[in-house]
Amino acid sequence: MRSKLVAGNWKMHGGMVQNRDLLGAIVAGTAALHKAGFAVCVPYPYLYQAQTLLRDTHIQWGAQNVSQHDKGAYTGEVSAAMLMDFGCHYVIAGHSERRALYGEDSHTVALKFKAAQVAGLIPILCVGETLDQREAAITEKVVAEQLDTIIESVGINALAKSVLAYEPVWAIGTGKTATPGQAQEVHAFIRDRIAAHSPEVAAGLKILYGGSVKANNAEELFAMPDIDGGLIGGASLVADEFIAICRAA
Ligand code: PGA
Repeated sequence: MRSKLVAGNWKMHGGMVQNRDLLGAIVAGTAALHKAGFAVCVPYPYLYQAQTLLRDTHIQWGAQNVSQHDKGAYTGEVSAAMLMDFGCHYVIAGHSERRALYGEDSHTVALKFKAAQVAGLIPILCVGETLDQREAAITEKVVAEQLDTIIESVGINALAKSVLAYEPVWAIGTGKTATPGQAQEVHAFIRDRIAAHSPEVAAGLKILYGGSVKANNAEELFAMPDIDGGLIGGASLVADEFIAICRAA
């Protein structure tokens, strides 16, 4: 059976003082929860702080992006090995904000996914359609293309050492959550597509849902058979909200 995972995606939010309070509250507030795994993906400058504060706790941490290169003249980039130096467990790859605002295509995302795994990180690979694409009824086509590019590039077995996140772009930061039924439909589609390559990989793979997950909708989303937890943006910055979502997992 797959255990659940709740991962916070802080995006470009935080500060030394507020992080300390937030992380302390999350550690304390989830200490009695043993069924699921929990993680926070913080901005690069706070990785050391996360490592220092979370080292001996049950909370794992990670980054939100990584370079596809391992070293060299890439001003402003951060390598997967550097993330390992700060004890990262996870790194988000292909978040829709990276795809839309920084021109990352599925090919680049595949290179980042690979670089992360080579260094020993677990990539959290994000896929999802825009509102236009959903309204044009091409959600499955879009998600399939995003997924297939990765599978072609890294091979199906590499997916066994990753986490997927289905994040409909229209639900991110908008307060519009996919209904549990809508989300489950796409999660099942993703799992079936992977099962066509390897039933074992498909059965073991965690597929998180992301997009306006809050304390008041987490439980019904997480109750769906193919939803294995959540990637949480806005609500991961509010201790009580995030802890309540963790409790729902
Ligand atoms: P949200 O973001 O929870 O604020 O919608 C989710 C994400 O972008 O990972």
